[in-house]
Amino acid sequence: MSRIPLPAFMNDQEVRLFADVAGRFLDRHATRADTDAWRAAGAVPASLWREAGRAGLLGVTVPEAYGGAGADFRFDAALINELGRRDALGFAIPLHNSVVLPYLVDFGTELQKKKYLPGGCSGETVFAIAMSEPAAGSDLQGMRTTARRDGDDYVLNGQKIFISNGLLASVVIVAAKTDPAAGAKGITLFIVEADWPGFTRGRLLDKMGQEGRDTVELFFSDLRVPVANRLGGEGEGFAMLMKKLPQERLVIAWQAMAMIESALDTTVTYVRERKLFGKALSDFQNSQFTLADCLTQATVAKVFLDHCTDRLLREDLDHATASMAKLWVTEAQGRIIDACLQLHGGYGYMSEYPIANLYKDARAYRIYGGTSEIMKLLIARAL
Ligand SMILES: Cc1cc2nc3c(=O)[nH]c(=O)nc-3n(C[C@H](O)[C@H](O)[C@H](O)COP(=O)(O)OP(=O)(O)OC[C@H]3O[C@@H](n4cnc5c(N)ncnc54)[C@H](O)[C@@H]3O)c2cc1C
Repeated sequence: MSRIPLPAFMNDQEVRLFADVAGRFLDRHATRADTDAWRAAGAVPASLWREAGRAGLLGVTVPEAYGGAGADFRFDAALINELGRRDALGFAIPLHNSVVLPYLVDFGTELQKKKYLPGGCSGETVFAIAMSEPAAGSDLQGMRTTARRDGDDYVLNGQKIFISNGLLASVVIVAAKTDPAAGAKGITLFIVEADWPGFTRGRLLDKMGQEGRDTVELFFSDLRVPVANRLGGEGEGFAMLMKKLPQERLVIAWQAMAMIESALDTTVTYVRERKLFGKALSDFQNSQFTLADCLTQATVAKVFLDHCTDRLLREDLDHATASMAKLWVTEAQGRIIDACLQLHGGYGYMSEYPIANLYKDARAYRIYGGTSEIMKLLIARAL
């Protein structure tokens, strides 16, 4: 919606050019017919990842030496906005680009970077990250997947749940316990290739929304991972996860923001066109007050996200502030999209209206990447 301020970084001509390229790509490949097809199939076509790689949309922040564009997070945020404004977040580029690849860039050895990053930039390799388990989501330290050292390998056994990109991923960063008695200090990360013996995917999980994003369970049974594929040192996994979570939370908040703007756009159009009792729905004071309230919340959210992005770029985004961004924006997303759907009446409940998909898709944002309650715990720690 034009009234919500653009983030300051959109004044940069290169960021704007990149957003235009991304927008044009998505106008061709993420039409309503495409996104409906993704939802029906439970995943985007694998070929779309390679198309996006050819268009320069993958590995945007990966250094050029490894096939990326060597750009910064502003470009990631601009791309997220383009995806979110087109109901195209089923194509989980933000997870691949801005959550998983940075683990390799920041913590990978030279050999690991050379081996894995070029595929991530071309779209030959889709990445996922597997932390959550049936008994360990918020309580990551309670994970039960183990990695036992055996010569030059680790032997992984266990199970992960709710893994996004899990069906199409050919490489997964897996968190496992190398020392089950050591709590957080016993967690290690591994770069696991999905075609190694002992790696199995469960069926596509049947979700209430975000149907176009492939979410699966993963199973590891005596899966041998070479020591060379350990990411960072033994026992350093939890600290690496903690280091990366502020950015992951900002990525989630930017996606929620794009969905808020999309909801406002579609609702403003709807209330202007819908006629009731001889006048436009937009002429009712309730519609105006509801949308004024939504626009105010959205504007506050966007300005705060801009501030957080600036701090991320200065490497100054702490856990509490990133948690505030995720908490505030995703809670606002829930309230705003709900209010927008209400203004659509019964039509809002019909899948052909964009607001219905936004409503279904939004619900997970208050859960993944840390629930709203966990965000409050992290914020309270800063008091
Ligand atoms: C669509 C989707 C995609 C996902 N993608 C991924 C992925 O790619 N990779 C991955 O690793 N994970 C992924 N997840 C998992 C996600 O991160 C977890 O679902 C989330 O962290 C919550 O964990 P849980 O589901 O085990 O809930 P639980 O931890 O069991 O929480 C249940 C309830 O208890 C509350 N609670 C928990 N602890 C506390 C506390 N200390 N104080 C107060 N309340 C508390 C929670 O807020 C929640 O309301 C995904 C989840 C979904 C739904």
